[in-house]
Amino acid sequence: MKLSTAEKHLLWFLYDWIRPIRPGDMKEHLKLKHPTLNSQLEVLKKKGLVSWKKYGPASLTQLGRMVASHHVRHTRLLEFFLINTLSIDEEVAHEESITLAPMVSCRLADAINSFLNNPERSPCCGEIPQLEERCVFEKQEEGI
Ligand SMILES: [Zn+2]
Ligand SMILES: [Zn+2]
Repeated sequence: MKLSTAEKHLLWFLYDWIRPIRPGDMKEHLKLKHPTLNSQLEVLKKKGLVSWKKYGPASLTQLGRMVASHHVRHTRLLEFFLINTLSIDEEVAHEESITLAPMVSCRLADAINSFLNNPERSPCCGEIPQLEERCVFEKQEEGI
């Protein structure tokens, strides 16, 4: 099972939002049409990542939260790498890491992490979540 970039964005949004939110309130933040949002939520629900009843508020399941934590980890490791290893300006590194993160696998994130000696915080975005397990989606893809 794979997540599309659009599905990932929706997942990250729900993670940052923290509280449950209705699609009607979500659409202005995400700049998506209501039917698009509904069908994306339906897909995420089928994958067990989101808990949602039509017209009601949506929130992440425990599994959804775990997948989103990986995203935060990958983004911040990348950011740390860009700032400290490549000496890229903090503001630019922040933007680049957000653009690149949906394409970074756990395998690559773990390699960056070892190269950097397990950094605890990204210089501009705070704590880097330490996750022992690889993301469930990646385990399936890699056939582990
Ligand atoms: Zn940042
Ligand atoms: Zn990961």
